Amino acid sequence: MRPIQMVDLKQQYLKIKGDVDAAIHNVLDSTAFINGKPVNEFAENLAKYLGSKHVVPCANGTDALQVAMMALGLEPGDEVITPSFTYVATTEVVALLRLNPVFVEVDTKTFCIDPSAIEKAITPKTKAIVPVHLYGQAAPMEEIMQIAEKHNLFVIEDNAQAIGSEYIFSNGAKKKTGAIGLIGTTSFFPSKNLGCYGDGGAIFTNDDTLAVKLKMIANHGQQKRYYHEMIGCNSRLDTMQAAVLDIKLKKLDDYINARRKAADYYDRAFSDHPKITVPFRAKYSRHVFHQYTLILENTDRGKLNEHLATKNIPSMIYYPVPAHRQQMFAKFGGSSYNLPATDWLTERVISLPMHTELDEEQLEFISSAVLNFINH
Ligand SMILES: *Cc1c(COP(=O)(O)O)cnc(C)c1O
Repeated sequence: MRPIQMVDLKQQYLKIKGDVDAAIHNVLDSTAFINGKPVNEFAENLAKYLGSKHVVPCANGTDALQVAMMALGLEPGDEVITPSFTYVATTEVVALLRLNPVFVEVDTKTFCIDPSAIEKAITPKTKAIVPVHLYGQAAPMEEIMQIAEKHNLFVIEDNAQAIGSEYIFSNGAKKKTGAIGLIGTTSFFPSKNLGCYGDGGAIFTNDDTLAVKLKMIANHGQQKRYYHEMIGCNSRLDTMQAAVLDIKLKKLDDYINARRKAADYYDRAFSDHPKITVPFRAKYSRHVFHQYTLILENTDRGKLNEHLATKNIPSMIYYPVPAHRQQMFAKFGGSSYNLPATDWLTERVISLPMHTELDEEQLEFISSAVLNFINH
């Protein structure tokens, strides 16, 4: 059996090695390392894939969130509602821009922001909502967009974990996640569902004026070289990463199907177990399984992690500390929050290996090891 990894980038690379190596050599030949042709080509292809009018490439998923928030003209002290149960980038950027993060609960079923918690957290200072499509499960965007419209709030979708997921509205209309809110952001970190071979990110919008502003901000606030109209930053997707991403974008739907197939296997192994809750698959979307995350009850999660490690099976806790309990947010009143659903999940989740290259032998080995531990 091949060694089991959380993400098997090597096996995935070997299957596209010819194309990737040729594309990288083309970039070397051109020496157009920054803003080479592949950057625009990839941005256009991604825009088409997402059904979003504009894609602005940038350096990473954290920058994507930062540039998005900078473009909205928010003032220090304005409030931005985010889930506490997310990766640190979502919430950190809010504080970095001197805005106030307001942490709200997630739904224990979807792991995503709870719309009723958003409504309760809205104050006259609230300006934006940042739902996170966690683990590849879309947040309930239809309800979120209705709340945003009612209270005149911006919506920035943190789509770093769910690129390619589709949202189905109650009228049957379908949209890709990231293309629903005013702005969507993503990360091309190597382990993401669409990952490059370094750092990368992108911002999406259907708004023409906003697209111009996003591009400017990611490029030192300039449209015309050396004429800087506003404070920006330096955030670029380099040409080599774009060339790799353009190849992998063509495979994204196959990659998603491979992840879903692995998730189906795990579901069959675990779904009847009284101590295990398998990932919920919301009817309104297509789960793209960035992570395969179980909720365990009456189980020593740390010991399970150790038991799996003795069999060379990695497992991870995403994330061991929610935002409201992070030291970095002490000044923002983090410890005064009461988020029992978030704490409950934080103590019980565990993520198993999930990637495009898992075969049945590995899946069988992993699920047996989990069940053996839990049953004994
Ligand atoms: C990975 C990730 C980010 C940040 O992406 P980087 O490219 O690492 O900066 C932001 N939000 C979420 C939910 C992520 O998973």
